[in-house]
Amino acid sequence: MPGKFKTEAVVLRSIRFGEADRVLHLYSAGRGRIGAIAKGVRRPRSRFGGRLEPFFRLDLVLHQGRGDLATVTAAHTVAAHPHLRASGPALGAAARACDAVLRLLDSQEANPAAYNLLCRYLAILDGSESIAGDGEADGAAGLATALAFRLKLALAAGFSPELASCARCGESDGLAGFSGAAGGVVCGACESGGFPLSGEAHSFLVEALGRPLAQAPIADTGALRQAERAIAETLEHHAHVHLRAAA
Ligand SMILES: [Zn+2]
Repeated sequence: MPGKFKTEAVVLRSIRFGEADRVLHLYSAGRGRIGAIAKGVRRPRSRFGGRLEPFFRLDLVLHQGRGDLATVTAAHTVAAHPHLRASGPALGAAARACDAVLRLLDSQEANPAAYNLLCRYLAILDGSESIAGDGEADGAAGLATALAFRLKLALAAGFSPELASCARCGESDGLAGFSGAAGGVVCGACESGGFPLSGEAHSFLVEALGRPLAQAPIADTGALRQAERAIAETLEHHAHVHLRAAA
């Protein structure tokens, strides 16, 4: 679709290019993944100012020519997330979240659930959306909220693990393990090839999917690491994507 278009988008990655330009990896509300170039943005008096940086949520006007990259012609800030930028743990969590979106969602189709989830997580990390419930103990930038984000992102991308009954035989009792190859929890009889999943880790996964992101359930570190492994192995087997450690 050549020509001018408008969309809201989050800057996932911003790479210096040439003398004064930047190449941007964007996740947009209207068109999913967009690659774009912003010309002259690194000049001192660029009209874009400093807003074409990672984690900015922007209202953009772009021009799609014949090449792969669209050209940014106007950019207005929707959310700059200044508090996120001032916090090391929040910056790390935001970078891992954007990296997960880069790896998992490469389609140029709108995915409103994924876009809204990313915006919500950045707002929570910025402190502009308060965190409630059990997640408070862990903090917005902690592992529990990071895993809840990752699990909801997997769901939005179509790769959510089966959590209600054995992913191999359908049995709903005696669930004792998790198998990435099977794509979910497995019963004792089907456990070979999987790894043991504690009741606490299983509950965490179920509740994290069911609750709002700002209310990620609390669990001990061992259970969270099992939950992380379950999400990671599901995505490796079914999306062929390897994510960085969640925290
Ligand atoms: Zn089974």
